Amino acid sequence: MADAEKTKPEGVRVDLTGQVALVTGASRGIGRAIAIHLARCGATVAGVARTVDALQGTLAAIREAGGTAEGFAANVGDSADVARVVEEIEAKFPKIQILVNNAGVTRDGLMLRMEDDAWQQVIDVNLKGTFQFCRALGAIMMRQRYGRIVNITSVSGLMGNPGQANYSASKAGVIGFTKTIARELASRGITVNAVAPGFIETDMTSVLPDKIKAEVKERVPVRRLGEPEDIADLVAYLASPSAGYITGQIIAVDGGMTA
Ligand code: NAP
Repeated sequence: MADAEKTKPEGVRVDLTGQVALVTGASRGIGRAIAIHLARCGATVAGVARTVDALQGTLAAIREAGGTAEGFAANVGDSADVARVVEEIEAKFPKIQILVNNAGVTRDGLMLRMEDDAWQQVIDVNLKGTFQFCRALGAIMMRQRYGRIVNITSVSGLMGNPGQANYSASKAGVIGFTKTIARELASRGITVNAVAPGFIETDMTSVLPDKIKAEVKERVPVRRLGEPEDIADLVAYLASPSAGYITGQIIAVDGGMTA
């Protein structure tokens, strides 16, 4: 495990024994921390990323800690690929109680210079991918009369962020989508919530210059950047049976940035 994971407290443990959790974007960053934490809470994890190779580190961390996990390859922005991978996962795990839509990309640039391709890729992965998995897993959860869906949005979708027209549109889309399907699925025992991370230290943000990181720290009331485990704790709670009266909510984990 990475050093940060060793030094961080293990987080709140909810009991997910006997449950199966599908986590997209489980190979790195926030998705990896979510997958590891859900497994630590007792869930069997089906992790998705573009390649199974990329998932090996997460799978090994879970298995070394005594958990159970399998890796599945799919491009979440591709409808046919999502349909195929859901079929594969369902064949292996006929009941899936938890879905975490975490896979996401950025292709930043100012709106006036943004190419169609940069717009479309970000919308496809972040928004369409979330829709595709919710539709497929929603059907399974309806039959089970139980489910927990957690979509990862962003403070960019709440506040906007210059240079992220495509990304903030995709994440704002996830917010509206989450609220709507929460209403559609609530009567079947399925909750749907979104977590909006602030600035979290992962590969996605490592490309930003130190100057920007220092500015963010200044703007964040708790005066530090977030860690993937900060997000994983809340996701595990929302994914647990205890959170059955919370649905349609967008909860920021951002050190107070949007307070
Ligand atoms: P990251 O370190 O770049 O990891 C992104 C993950 O998504 C990887 O596991 C990647 O897997 C997967 N992924 C990307 N494109 C994919 C595709 N087409 N199909 C399948 N998997 C794909 O990002 P992160 O910072 O952990 O971000 C995770 C989520 O949190 C994203 O939705 C992001 O928008 C959101 N978020 C992050 C921050 C932040 O500050 N870091 C803030 C707000 C919101 P492979 O590359 O291995 O396929």
